[in-house]
Amino acid sequence: MPRLRVYELAKKLNMSAKDLLQELEELGLDVKNHMSYIDEETVGLILEIFEEEEESVKKAAKPKKEKEKEEEEEVSQEVFVKPEEMQLNTFAVKIGVPLNRIIQDMFTKGIALKPMQQLDEKLAKEIARMYGYRLKLQQSSIQVEQEEIVENELEKLERYFETLYTVHKNELTIRPPVVTVMGHVDHGKTTLLDKIRKTRVAEQEVGGITQSIGAYQVSHNGKKITFIDTPGHELFTEMRAKGVQATDIVVLVVAADDGVMPQTVEAYNHAKTANVPVIVAINKIDKPNANVELTKRQLVDKLNLVPEDWGGDTIVVPISARTGAGIDELLEMILLVSEMKEIKCYPKGPARCVIIESKLDRALGPVANVIVKDGILKIGDYLVSGPVYCKVRVLVDDKGRSVKSAEPSQPVMIVGFEEVPDIRYMVYAVPDLETARIVTQQLKERLDRDKATKRKVRLEELLKMMEESDKKELNIVLKADTFGSLSAVQNAIASIKSQEIKVNVVHSAIGTINNSDVMLASASNGIIVGFRVKVDTQARKAAESEGVQIKTYEIIYDLLDNLKLALEGMLKPEVVEELVGRGEIKKVFEIKKVGKIAGVQLLDGFVEKSCVVKIYRNGTFVSSDEIESLKHYKQDVDRVDAPQECGIKLKTDLEIHEGDELEFYRKTQVQKRL
Ligand code: GDP
Repeated sequence: MPRLRVYELAKKLNMSAKDLLQELEELGLDVKNHMSYIDEETVGLILEIFEEEEESVKKAAKPKKEKEKEEEEEVSQEVFVKPEEMQLNTFAVKIGVPLNRIIQDMFTKGIALKPMQQLDEKLAKEIARMYGYRLKLQQSSIQVEQEEIVENELEKLERYFETLYTVHKNELTIRPPVVTVMGHVDHGKTTLLDKIRKTRVAEQEVGGITQSIGAYQVSHNGKKITFIDTPGHELFTEMRAKGVQATDIVVLVVAADDGVMPQTVEAYNHAKTANVPVIVAINKIDKPNANVELTKRQLVDKLNLVPEDWGGDTIVVPISARTGAGIDELLEMILLVSEMKEIKCYPKGPARCVIIESKLDRALGPVANVIVKDGILKIGDYLVSGPVYCKVRVLVDDKGRSVKSAEPSQPVMIVGFEEVPDIRYMVYAVPDLETARIVTQQLKERLDRDKATKRKVRLEELLKMMEESDKKELNIVLKADTFGSLSAVQNAIASIKSQEIKVNVVHSAIGTINNSDVMLASASNGIIVGFRVKVDTQARKAAESEGVQIKTYEIIYDLLDNLKLALEGMLKPEVVEELVGRGEIKKVFEIKKVGKIAGVQLLDGFVEKSCVVKIYRNGTFVSSDEIESLKHYKQDVDRVDAPQECGIKLKTDLEIHEGDELEFYRKTQVQKRL
């Protein structure tokens, strides 16, 4: 028996690598992870131990299970329900009785219920009793918020699906992993996806519709893997901005003849922030100038990813997308990571899907390409996706075949939407058309209302808002045509230094300004700055409706000047005092009911009514004041120039003396520069 890796041994023992790891740990063996090697001797020993154990485990397993079952039955008489679980559909899940059955049974008793109906205690108790449960109402754990939040129907629906996971914790099953291929341009993403598809999709339909549905599924060693086929990067970013996670694993493609490039770094950062595990595929190893070792070094240096054969825990697989070398191992590793991650779903409930593409098809009408996340999606299902609903008319799988249903992780095209759904929304199956209508209608109305009241956030307004709120941060989504210009603009923006304003580049990338940029800018309440790039039509429309401002420039100085001007506008102007004249008090007149008037001889410059007056006595500063009235002879004037005389009445009735020296200052607001 040669030395083996943990996962290889696990396979031999017909158990998951995760379980084996745990077992080994309990045996006191020091193994780091599923990729660690175990030496020959230990392998032999473990095999022995496990074979012995197997028999006794089998024997022990049965009674234990039965015991558990008994215990469950004992407590099943009482059901604890929280106030937030009192909506009929949630409640049905809670007591484990199909919603339709409850509705039917209650109907025969003369009570008509709706799926989303909020139950009162009496009704809930009655329903529970009907199926042999005693209802115990519990305190809500989120009671305080409950009273304040008025949940809309869509949120209720989302929460209902979340509760399925907790309520059916023990019925969750493993689903196939959904993989996105990312990496620098020209490193071979498309070639890899094509190769896997061509060589692994078993029953390629001859003459079938070969229209891409944005993803496909392959089988490897009898296990399924779903690959997202659309440009990984864009989709990933867009999904992330919307808080939707379609991907379980990222394959980061790095060409062995080019190494880690800017988009490699960017792609990795996206995966990292989304907390999605990464497998590195070093591609193009068939090329004569391929350098796998150098590429690995760059992974360490630039991404801090240490390959497992160098003692780290990053899985790195050298491949050639062209010849197909290494692809088997890559698929193997994907399955391994997926096994370790235990990607779960609740397969028995209503379907929940994530949209990866949606469009208006000339022949089919609005369609959405989705990946099922939970439940079984079936023809005839009623679906809700944001403000759009659907009765599923046709389902088309990744081989262009019309199918009746789709299971978790399966990509499928849905035909039957009323309108093209927005990919930012999940797709939920609901019990009936009425529910679908209620949910979508409510959201539609709310969106219309929002639209009507939403003001456009233009840069200037944004700046004004920030000025008022004293929170001076400008968020920028930056797009440029090349990496060179992108880093140039980034550097230039970084050079705009100000203590008062923080400029954040929340996202920067190469290429046309697209929808995802708008979503990101909108989410971060920022603006989009484009350098030598176009704005695509969808983005323009989205910017319009989201109220996001897009500014594009061709010349870097224009961009900078404009940005600087805008930012300077945010700075509070500095008030500067400028000395404009001097004088001396010749005489002080006390006038009843008026106060003291200083008769002043101007020595140089001038005095204006708006001036600040600084008073000096015997060469020392005494105080400063403002002018209430300025007279030249008996006349009220705005300004008097030296060497004339004038009468000044100060605002506060300060002590003034003959011989006091006066300085006149003009206050000016100076715009601060960056
Ligand atoms: P993408 O931009 O990442 O999708 O890259 P492509 O898949 O379009 O590949 C870019 C170029 O690299 C194409 O000319 C491919 O034929 C070539 N290419 C991709 N993978 C390999 C490979 O493994 N070996 C060789 N020699 N060329 C490859």
